[in-house]
Amino acid sequence: MRAPLLLLPAVLLVLSALATSAQAPADATVERLYGHPGYRVAAQYLARDYDRFVDELIQLTEVPAPPFGEDARADAFVELARASGLSDIERDEEGNVLILRPGTGNLLLVVAAHLDTVFPPETDVTVRRNGTILSAPGIGDNSQGVAALLAIARALDFGMLHTTSNILFVANVGEEGPGSLRGVRHLFTKGRYAGRIDAFISIDGMGSGNYITTGGVGSLRYRVTFDGPGGHSYGAFGLVNPANALAAAIRHIGAIAVPASPRTTFNVGLIGGGTSVNTIPSSVWMDVDLRSESPDELQRLDAAFRDAVDRAVDEENRARSTSSGRISATIDLLGERPSGRTPHTDRLVRTTAAAMRITGLEPQYGWSSTDANLPMSLGVPAITIDTGIRGDRAHAPDEWIDIERGRVVSGLQRVLLIVLGAAM
Ligand SMILES: [Zn+2]
Repeated sequence: MRAPLLLLPAVLLVLSALATSAQAPADATVERLYGHPGYRVAAQYLARDYDRFVDELIQLTEVPAPPFGEDARADAFVELARASGLSDIERDEEGNVLILRPGTGNLLLVVAAHLDTVFPPETDVTVRRNGTILSAPGIGDNSQGVAALLAIARALDFGMLHTTSNILFVANVGEEGPGSLRGVRHLFTKGRYAGRIDAFISIDGMGSGNYITTGGVGSLRYRVTFDGPGGHSYGAFGLVNPANALAAAIRHIGAIAVPASPRTTFNVGLIGGGTSVNTIPSSVWMDVDLRSESPDELQRLDAAFRDAVDRAVDEENRARSTSSGRISATIDLLGERPSGRTPHTDRLVRTTAAAMRITGLEPQYGWSSTDANLPMSLGVPAITIDTGIRGDRAHAPDEWIDIERGRVVSGLQRVLLIVLGAAM
């Protein structure tokens, strides 16, 4: 933390802005902040901090962080946070790293970025550089988001910006793949801040810097296993066959009517089982993904899916002999993401949109499936944004970002303004 005396009046000005901003329109609050000397100092700091930001995002990327294996990257993050002069750093029971920056009031804003990637631990995560293009698995989704937490926290300290909200920076586990958002779920439902969080911003992925995820697409993922007596394909012909039941279930699922709006989808993405071509399988399975923008539609789809499985089992047990045993189906939950929505009229969304407009971007709103789903489902105002860093091929081995200086700096400055606006 730097504390140049000259900035003291700026601090007082920010505090007086805070006192009135709860009632002030979001646009006016952001406008005041944008012109504020404290913000200017912090924004200039981000320009000077560019090399460090790039260096840190490379360091983070080169530490593997597969789902359920984020510990090493979390350690690296803690070290960078300590070296940044940040204090009040802790690791919660789920593996999230939490850094508390006290405010002057009681509200609590969480600014999060996920540590985990989709890549298995043996993946080569060496960062390759070609001009301003950096490529490595996970570099955009989400090392740069995690590095942004550090840069923003340092800038707030350097500008001596005192916010009303306490800000909890969270480098969280469990966003990607299976695990049902376990990091953020723990934070909101079990950790010591559970029930005390007033707003949530997730910084996730690459983009144009003007996309606000205000809707969380809910999903349910299942493995359905069909079991039966099995037998010789020739000798035991006529017995019930779980593969037939699986096929019928897929056909029934395919016939489920879902609305285009709210967008609701289903997919049978993986199937497997059996032992050989001349054996009636004793077990086959399929993995199913169900999604909807609406919790009600997701529930309806879930019921229709379960009915499809039941009917398929029933049909097979009636179509062939059950003299050696019957077909049964087991549905195991692989993952669950609740759906939810933050209204565009919410102050968090309006502030974010205002910060985008004042920095020259036209905000776009949309649906996605991110860590913000969880708070949204609990009724806590939540959004997901990106840093404005350009890139592509997320979740692919040739993932890349463009670290062109001007764009990176203006992107981070925008995120700073959003965080400040939200914490007022
Ligand atoms: Zn991500």
